[in-house]
Amino acid sequence: MTTTSETTAFTYQSLLEAIQPNSGGREIRDPATGQTVGRVAEPDISELDAAIQAARAAQPAWDARGHEQRSDLLNQAADAIEANAEALAQLLSREQGKPLNGPNARFEVAACSAWLRATASFTLEPETLVEEYGARAQLFYRPLGVVGAIGPWNWPMMISVWQLAPALRMGNTVVMKPSEYTPLSVLALAEVINSVLPADVLTIIPGGREVGQRLAEHEDIAKVMFTGSTATGKAIIRSSADTVKRLTLELGGNDAGIVLPDADPAAIAEGLFWGAFINTGQTCAALKRLYVHEDIYDEVCEALTSFAQNMPMGIGVDEHNMLGPLQNKAQFDVVDRLVQAAKDSGARVLLGGEPDVDQPGYFYPTTLVADIDNDNPLVAEEQFGPALPIIRFSSVDEAVAKANALDVGLGASVWSSNPAAAREVAARLEAGTVWINKHGAIDPRVPFGGAKQSGYGLEFGVEGLKHLGAPQIISG
Ligand code: NAD
Repeated sequence: MTTTSETTAFTYQSLLEAIQPNSGGREIRDPATGQTVGRVAEPDISELDAAIQAARAAQPAWDARGHEQRSDLLNQAADAIEANAEALAQLLSREQGKPLNGPNARFEVAACSAWLRATASFTLEPETLVEEYGARAQLFYRPLGVVGAIGPWNWPMMISVWQLAPALRMGNTVVMKPSEYTPLSVLALAEVINSVLPADVLTIIPGGREVGQRLAEHEDIAKVMFTGSTATGKAIIRSSADTVKRLTLELGGNDAGIVLPDADPAAIAEGLFWGAFINTGQTCAALKRLYVHEDIYDEVCEALTSFAQNMPMGIGVDEHNMLGPLQNKAQFDVVDRLVQAAKDSGARVLLGGEPDVDQPGYFYPTTLVADIDNDNPLVAEEQFGPALPIIRFSSVDEAVAKANALDVGLGASVWSSNPAAAREVAARLEAGTVWINKHGAIDPRVPFGGAKQSGYGLEFGVEGLKHLGAPQIISG
């Protein structure tokens, strides 16, 4: 059942006013210009505790609505996002820094409604496992209770929806802590979603790591959905141990792409570029290490450079731009340090590599680095920014060994004119998803999750719903 809803219409200003404190709060600045975007309240831990108790009280009635009504409300939330898409995109662009156009702010807002609708559409029936001699064993998925969600700053709205949509669909209520770098985007998204949801079903509590830690420790939080760095994921495992919490951990990655000798450099350059530079490289499953066969190494470097050098980078709200700044100074410093390490090693900079420090904003130019060793820090560490190392290889075994050498394994890709050969290489890669002739393409129907220290648990699709349910067997 889908009913059309009367949605609240916000302007950019009215949305900002609705989510800001009446006085005080912490200032949030545009990473492209340094200009003030708005202020965010800084609740103390007692407000988190109160939100968890309210969410707990609201959960049984939310569960009692059943899947059909909850799905209907998720669709209404998607309607509300679509009705307010431009105000949301403008705020996201200013706070996160990403441009309005390209695979950026407007695209991210559109993904929020698409993921809500997809999550509303899945069916999760009880599974009959055994049926013989008049006896039956069936598997059901019950709600867990209150789900805590903790998110990063790179795709703040979309990742919040990845966490809240399946949690709500399964009859849980949600208390979410956004990244301290991008709280306004998540507060604004929730303001719009909450225009159709009952009270206390979805609550956002902004704050720093102490709020996240308390969520992970809290005895009334049944599960934590976490997306962020591997280091924080390990801290959450420790904080949640005493309450034996369920966890879905979507952690850091350092995705390898392998270009086989039969690939067509001109045909794959655009896909390689966006695989690596989507969201200015600040994407968990972006291509972060590119391995190219020696037979076509120079051609791939040339094709990638000629595509990359024309891509406009600048202030997010300028309609012309496709790449933006790093979201914060700490991330700018990581990228700067890693590119410096590559240059110090004698690697060859094909493009970029020299940030303009007199320019306002955390802009790092699109950077391509060739003739670099596999153990260089720009290859071995997650750069999470617009700097791609390109490593030469001479045999597929060598490329596979290098790709698998790290302790993370979120995504990977294989590029070839022969998809069957590419699939054989893909099967040898230690990663949660391996794409062929593309990188980072996600789909709400297809489960997504990391291998090795990129985390555990799956998001999206029916598998994603199951991860937000408590499995229960009824036997007999
Ligand atoms: P981060 O780990 O620094 O922070 C993420 C969140 O955790 C923030 O809200 C932060 O306040 C909170 N936090 C920090 N310390 C905490 C603690 N001790 N207990 C509980 N919460 C705590 O990550 P980030 O810098 O915001 O995001 C970038 C990282 O996220 C990259 O490594 C990237 O690869 C990863 N990421 C992964 C995915 C995925 O799906 N696997 C998606 C996006 C980003």
